[in-house]
Amino acid sequence: MYPSIEVNLRKLEHNARETVRRCAELGISVAGVIKGCSGLPECAAAIARGGCSYIASSRLGQLDGARRAGIDLPLMMLRLPMPSEAAEVVRLADISLNSELAVLELLDREAAAQGKRHGVLLMAEMGDLREGIWDRGELADCALAVEKRFSHLELAGIGTNLGCYGSIAPTVEKMCEFAEIAEMVEQAIGRPLGIISGGASTSFPRIMDKNMPSKINNLRIGENIVIGRDLADLWEYETDFLHNDVFTLRAEIIEVKSKPSHPIGEIMFDAFRNKPVYEDRGIRRRALAAIGRVDYAWADQLVPMDEGVTVLGASSDHTILDIEDAHRDFKPGDIVSFGLCYGTAVFLTQAPGIEIRYVE
Ligand SMILES: *Cc1c(COP(=O)(O)O)cnc(C)c1O
Repeated sequence: MYPSIEVNLRKLEHNARETVRRCAELGISVAGVIKGCSGLPECAAAIARGGCSYIASSRLGQLDGARRAGIDLPLMMLRLPMPSEAAEVVRLADISLNSELAVLELLDREAAAQGKRHGVLLMAEMGDLREGIWDRGELADCALAVEKRFSHLELAGIGTNLGCYGSIAPTVEKMCEFAEIAEMVEQAIGRPLGIISGGASTSFPRIMDKNMPSKINNLRIGENIVIGRDLADLWEYETDFLHNDVFTLRAEIIEVKSKPSHPIGEIMFDAFRNKPVYEDRGIRRRALAAIGRVDYAWADQLVPMDEGVTVLGASSDHTILDIEDAHRDFKPGDIVSFGLCYGTAVFLTQAPGIEIRYVE
């Protein structure tokens, strides 16, 4: 029974629909990214119902699950294919993101073998320093190769990714630069590109500010739909139109005691090689919940739903709560609830032993 996460599919669909609507107003299609909820097929279906044009994931298994769940939208493989999975990429995805000519050759061969045409979104490196072709000449050459040389590949468009490794903001300037790259590729191949994909959730502020260059016609959005907290918490956007409580984590209390708030003895390292600092607030009422970092990784990304409850920390299988100021009188066997952030949702939705319950 516990720990459990409750997934509100109606709220998830709502988030997708509101995101799609705002993008559509600016002529932008949305690839709904399902990796933030570990590709759970029920979630993928809700995101699809919200009106996305594609369903996307970084993992082939999640795309497979979406297809098996009956989603008939084109499927987009976000992570550059491993050469060893080229056949599976062609089999399961309609479009994949790419940056390596040698891999494109493999995909072309596999597509020919399977009697398919496979769509390619060529990735342009814009400074975030993860995937993508940095050299503009190489990008144009690669686009030409897909266009002319590989008979079973189709150049679906180009994409870029920002705000992931290098934490680079998709500013208006960056987006304009990307639009120029798209024009350069279009000149090289002599026709307009279908998809010009200007990034992920981190590019959504350009939609909110309505200052996305008109050349850009697609975004690949996951986090914004699944959680939607960061837009408000980190960027101070008004996001009343998004639910940030699609997920509710529930865990069972296994100990309630009053204890000193500062550890007693010589402080060394915790279970994860950190040397934490502890604030001495005297004797406080605390509770232990039966869930831990092997389930969600980051205790500071749990949001207690009970007023007056704070997360003090966690070890592998225990979460330690301060309940001194709680408005409830906790006892063992009680259930405590938390909201999630992207970082905790992505772990909890694939943790073994967590019951997942769907509500509409
Ligand atoms: C994960 C990912 C996305 C979606 O990112 P969100 O932050 O969840 O919106 C988009 N594009 C690529 C290439 C990705 O890997």
